[in-house]
Amino acid sequence: MEEYRELAELYCTSCNYCLPCPENIPIARILSLFSLARVYDLEEAAKKLYAEIGRTGFFARMNNGAACTSCGECAEKCPQKLEIPEELAAAHAALADDDEGG
Ligand code: SF4
Ligand code: SF4
Repeated sequence: MEEYRELAELYCTSCNYCLPCPENIPIARILSLFSLARVYDLEEAAKKLYAEIGRTGFFARMNNGAACTSCGECAEKCPQKLEIPEELAAAHAALADDDEGG
């Protein structure tokens, strides 16, 4: 039980307390896609949805993880104490198209 609790603390709860991001990055969305790819082994689906950020659909007017400047404003506000800039960089590396240049 304690193990589960510790594990749960590592995850983004999509509370959105980290917003607004000056670079208009949908942080919770990206972290949830990263979890989808890692935890549930749905990498291809997560990559397709990640590719929509900044291009089409609900997140068309926002930016993906490559736009993060590591300013750290978000991480200061995160109750889960996630290292958001590092998480976004890892998410982008895992989920971005190879030809996207990020
Ligand atoms: S560290 Fe990155 S994601 Fe966080 S507020 Fe700054 S630009 Fe946005
Ligand atoms: S504040 Fe932390 S837990 Fe909440 S949405 Fe942002 S990254 Fe996720």
